[in-house]
Amino acid sequence: MCVGGYRRIWKGMPRKQVFVCLTLAPLPFRDADMKHLPPETVRLLSSSQVVTSVLSVVKELVENALDAGASSIEVKLDNYGFDRVEVRDNGSGIEAADAPVMAVKHYTSKISSAADFDTLETYGFRGEALGSICAVAEVVVTSKTADADLSTQYTLDSEGHVLSQKPSHLGQGTTVTVCSLFKNLPVRKQFYSTSKKCKEELKRIQDLLMAYAIIQPELRLTFTHNKALVWHKAKVSDSRAGLMCVLGTAAMNNMMPVQFQQDEPQVDLSGFIPRPGSDNSMSSSSTDRTFVFINARPVHHKEILKDVVLVAVETALASVYGPLAEVPCSLLVPPEVEQSHSAPDLASEEGTALPQPPLETTAEPAGVSEEVQAGGTKKQQGRIDGDRWSLGHLPSDPASEEHLQPVKVFVPKRDGAPVPSCGPDKTPSKVAKVTAYDLISNRAVRQPQSASALFSQEARVKVLADNPEAGPQEISNIVERLWKNAPQEERKKYEEKAERETTRYECQSKRASEKSTEQLAKLSRAPKHKAVPSKQQILDKLLLSQAEKPRPPLAPDRPCRDAPFSLAALKTRLNLLSKRVGPSAERMHLIGQLGSHPAWLVSSGDQLLLLNPFRAEERLLFRRLLAENLLPTEKLESPLRLSDGLLGGSVYREALCSMEKTSVGPGGTATFSDARLVANGFQIRHIPGATATDGLLEIVAMATCVPFYGLSDLKDILHRVVHDGAQSVQQCRPLKVHRYLEGEAVRLARRLPLMMTKEDVDDTLSRMSGLEGDCTSCLHGRPLLHHLLDLPAQN
Ligand code: ADP
Ligand code: MG
Repeated sequence: MCVGGYRRIWKGMPRKQVFVCLTLAPLPFRDADMKHLPPETVRLLSSSQVVTSVLSVVKELVENALDAGASSIEVKLDNYGFDRVEVRDNGSGIEAADAPVMAVKHYTSKISSAADFDTLETYGFRGEALGSICAVAEVVVTSKTADADLSTQYTLDSEGHVLSQKPSHLGQGTTVTVCSLFKNLPVRKQFYSTSKKCKEELKRIQDLLMAYAIIQPELRLTFTHNKALVWHKAKVSDSRAGLMCVLGTAAMNNMMPVQFQQDEPQVDLSGFIPRPGSDNSMSSSSTDRTFVFINARPVHHKEILKDVVLVAVETALASVYGPLAEVPCSLLVPPEVEQSHSAPDLASEEGTALPQPPLETTAEPAGVSEEVQAGGTKKQQGRIDGDRWSLGHLPSDPASEEHLQPVKVFVPKRDGAPVPSCGPDKTPSKVAKVTAYDLISNRAVRQPQSASALFSQEARVKVLADNPEAGPQEISNIVERLWKNAPQEERKKYEEKAERETTRYECQSKRASEKSTEQLAKLSRAPKHKAVPSKQQILDKLLLSQAEKPRPPLAPDRPCRDAPFSLAALKTRLNLLSKRVGPSAERMHLIGQLGSHPAWLVSSGDQLLLLNPFRAEERLLFRRLLAENLLPTEKLESPLRLSDGLLGGSVYREALCSMEKTSVGPGGTATFSDARLVANGFQIRHIPGATATDGLLEIVAMATCVPFYGLSDLKDILHRVVHDGAQSVQQCRPLKVHRYLEGEAVRLARRLPLMMTKEDVDDTLSRMSGLEGDCTSCLHGRPLLHHLLDLPAQN
C-alpha cells in the first residue's frame, strides 16, 4: 500500500521543473473570468471521452468543486447515479456573469491559452466537462458566490446553454444535479444492465473519493447512495490521518513514511509504504488499496507503468526493502522446460515431465530430498516446480550450471541489515541492482557503463535482426564474440564513450553527496526545537515521581483489619465471567444505542453488555462467505492432467473419484459438481476408464482471484477429506482461501452504512445466535461484546 506524490511531466514541459507535492493545501482558485479558449489551444486539448460513465461524471464534478477551493463536498447518487448524481460543495461559486457560458464547451476560468499549461494548479482546465455532461443528461446548477445575496438555480439545455434561472435558498458554493444520465444513450446504459456491474461502479466511485480524501486531508467528504450513507470522511490534519480514514488504524500502524528524490529526470516522491518486516496480513498489494498520486492527481497504477516515475518508485522501494535479485531473462526458461511446454502429452504417471508449468505442481510430498526424487540422475534439471523452489531446490542453467531463480522478490531488510540474494548458493555474481541507478545520499544516479556493455547494447539489436531464431543465450554469445573480434579503432571508440560515462557518474555522485552535506549543515545550523517528550516519557516521569515521594509514616494508632483475598479464587471468578460474555450465552435483547458511541446496549440474562455491530457483521459475513462463497474460475489454456503422483498417492485419487459428478459429454465424461471442489474454484473433468477409480482426471478451470493458487491447494482439500472426514465446504477451505475470504469479509464490512437502525442491529443479534461458541471476536481479534455490569436480581 502506498501513497505518493510526484510532479507530473506535462507534455512539452522541461523535465527540470518537476517538484514534489503530497501534502497539498487545497488548490487555489483563480478569480479569472470565464473565457473561450482560442482554437489552437482547443485543438491541443480536445478529447472526445470526457463523460463515459457515472464514475467520470462524479470525478469531473468533484474536481470542479476542488478547483473552486471547497472544504466540504457531498456526493449523492440515486439508482447508481442513473436517476440522479448530485455534487454539492461550499467553494467559491460561479459568478452570475459567467453562468451563461459555464457549460458551453471550451469556456473555462482556469486557463486562457496553451502558455498557461506550465503553471497549471487546477484539476480541470479544458472547459469540457459540464458541456459533455449536458449532452447526455438533464443538468441543473445552483450556485452562490460570497458576494451574492442569494443563490441562483440554472437549468441547462443539452448544449450547455441556460434555459431558465430562478433564485434559490442554498448557501455559498455550487450544487450540480445531473438527472436521467445517458437517457439518450441506451447502449451505454445497457453496459450497466447487471446489478454486479452497478455495484462495481459504486465501489470504483468510493475508491476515487477515498483517493481524494487522502490527497486532500482537509476536505470533508460524504458519499450517499439511495439516501443511505456509504462513506464519510471528516476533516483531518494531514495525509497520514487521511490515509488512516481509508485504511484503518491497524493497517496504518504498519506503515512508514518515505521521502525520495531523483535527479535525472527529477522526481520528488513522498508517501507511505508498509514497514519492512511488518505483518503481511495487514498490508495489501492489490491495486484497490494502493493509492498513487502525481501532482495531487490520483493516477491508476497502469498509467505510471511506462512512466519515468516507475524507475523512481522502484529505486525508492529498493532503498527500503533491500536490493532485488535479478537474473537475465535468458536464464529463466532452460531448453528442457521449453520442450516440456511443447510436448504436454509426454506427461508420465510418475510426474517426471510436467505438462503445465504455470501451475504449482509437485509429484512428491515436501521434504523428500532432491537426490531421492531424482534417483541420482539429471532428470530434475528441466522442472519448474513451485513447491520445490519454495524449499530452496533450484534447477540449474545447463550452459552455466548456475541456479535459476523463478521470480524477482523484494525482500524486506530487517534491522537495516542488507538482505542476501534468494539463491541458496548466494552467488554474488548473479545479484544485480533493481535498476541501473545507484542510490547516493538518497538521490538516484545512473551507473556508468563499461565499453563492452555500451558496445553490446548497440550490437545486440543488429544481431537480433540477423538471427531471429536464436535464443537469448546464443545472442549474448554472438555479441560477446563480436566484441572480442572488434577492430582496434572501434573498441577505442567505445572505451572513450565509457570514460565519458565514468566522468559523468563521478560528477553526479559528487554533486549528490555535496548536496546532502549542505542539507545536513543547514539542519545543524537551524535553531533546534526543544524535543517534546512522548506520552510514554511523561507517564514514566509521573510514575517515577510517585514512587520517589516519601510516604508519610503510618499513624501507630490507625485501626487495621485483615481482608480475605485469594488470587486463585479471583482467577476462577474472572474465568467464569469471561465465559458468560459470549454470543452463545442466553438470548440477547437489544436495549438501544449509546448516544456518545456507535455501540449498542444489549442485555443477556442478568448481564448488561455493549455490542459493536460492525465487528459482529464482519464475523457473520466471514462465516457466510466460508459456507457459501463460490470462487470464480477461469478456463486453463490446456487442462492439467492429474496423476496419482501429482495428487500425492492413490488414496487421494480415490477420494476425488468418489466425489459427486454430473455427466456432461459423450462416453461418460463428467465434471465434478461436489461443492467442496466447486466452491473452492476447481473445475475438474473425469474421463472414465475401465473401473470406477480408473480413467483420466483433468483440472479444466481454476480460481484466479487467490494469489499462487494451484495444485497444492487441491491437495489440501483432499487431505482434509481423507484425514479429517471433512464433509462441508467450510471444513474444506484451503488456508489461502481462508485468508482471501477474511479479506473479502473485512472489505464488505467496511462498506456497511455508518448509521445502523434498531431493526438492523436486531437482525444482527438474531443471526449472532447461530455463531459457534469460539467466535467471540471480529477478524482482527477484537471482542464483539463487552461486559458492562451484572444486573441486580429481580423479584
Ligand atoms: P473546466 O473545469 O475544465 O474549466 P468544466 O466544464 O468542468 O471545465 O467547468 C467549466 C467552468 O465552470 C469552470 O472553469 C468553472 O469556472 C465553473 N465551475 C464548474 N463547476 C464549478 C464549481 N463547483 N464551483 C465553481 N465553479 C465551477
Ligand atoms: Mg472541470
